[in-house]
Amino acid sequence: MNENQGGDRQMFEGNWTCSSCGAGITQLPFQPDPAREGGLVCRDCHKQRMANKPRNDGPREMHKGDWKCAGCGGSITELPFEPDPARADQLKCRDCFRK
Ligand SMILES: [Zn+2]
Ligand SMILES: [Zn+2]
Repeated sequence: MNENQGGDRQMFEGNWTCSSCGAGITQLPFQPDPAREGGLVCRDCHKQRMANKPRNDGPREMHKGDWKCAGCGGSITELPFEPDPARADQLKCRDCFRK
């Protein structure tokens, strides 16, 4: 009989205010630290914050082109950034860049 296993989390009831939108918060999935009650956010604002967070785990956008490595003279067809045309002759391939 483990009805609670993996089910609803325990919710803490109270009367707090969202520091972001000012809405009332009556339930929290954790016991808030009284010293940090001024920084609490409601579920909606929390969700929004998570959605706006820059993600580092996605694939980087690669810029395709045809450049020449200033180090070994090899061709470069992909770069993780848009190269400045004025500095295109200073680009380095991945191998030379590591050196
Ligand atoms: Zn809010
Ligand atoms: Zn190179």
